[in-house]
Amino acid sequence: MAPTPPKAFLIDLDGTLYFKGEPCPGAIETVNYLRQEKYQLRFLTNTTAKTPKMLHAQMQALGFDIYEDEIFNATYACLQYLRSQPKNRCHFMVDDAVKAFFKEIPVDNEAPDFVVVGDYGEGFDFHALNHAFRLLMNGTELIALQKNLYWFSAEGMFLDCGAFVTLLEAAAGTTAKIMGKPSETFFKIALESLQCSPNEAIVVGDDITSDIRGAENTKLRSVLVKTGKFKPDQLENPVAKPTWVLDSISELRRLF
Ligand SMILES: [Mg+2]
Repeated sequence: MAPTPPKAFLIDLDGTLYFKGEPCPGAIETVNYLRQEKYQLRFLTNTTAKTPKMLHAQMQALGFDIYEDEIFNATYACLQYLRSQPKNRCHFMVDDAVKAFFKEIPVDNEAPDFVVVGDYGEGFDFHALNHAFRLLMNGTELIALQKNLYWFSAEGMFLDCGAFVTLLEAAAGTTAKIMGKPSETFFKIALESLQCSPNEAIVVGDDITSDIRGAENTKLRSVLVKTGKFKPDQLENPVAKPTWVLDSISELRRLF
């Protein structure tokens, strides 16, 4: 049986459309092509230091023709999750712009229901981590906006929020609920917004542990691109198996 032709693409941002502050070669043209061919698009990112509005401004400045309501990040997924919880007092370890995005959620720094960890940069000091550790030891649940261990900027590599989440999990003997990729919840929110079934959408990303594993968790087909964080040894004993592997997103139009 021929595979179902796709109706939609769920495309990663960092490392797939841009890298180190510059658009990936051919990425802008590929987005334009997909739009012209009437595919539905969603942009799924684990970047949580920015709200969808800020990401939209950044993508437009880079020259991408995308809309704010096409951008899904873990911050948005987390807000949806917290709204659905009967008790949702939170201690937030996120930067101020992201905290403002959660303004409807009650803050409780002493006896919260959840510790929510996102990109916190230099906020991750001993005092802040130890406070979170104590809350977790008292039974507070841990939510991670995402669990990427590191990321690349023009200045070099940086520890990402996942490194601190892993530290807290190990110390407190707990497991974080992950809001971003590769969680199935995240991909399902995107599919629902498209009114697509899993076999009608294709994930495109550079990260085998978040994009490709997330696609596999949600039974979506996927394209791994060899840009951004991709390293050849990831294909030797892959943690997830992409349907296709391409040198970059610019080759997507050879397939569709
Ligand atoms: Mg990426």
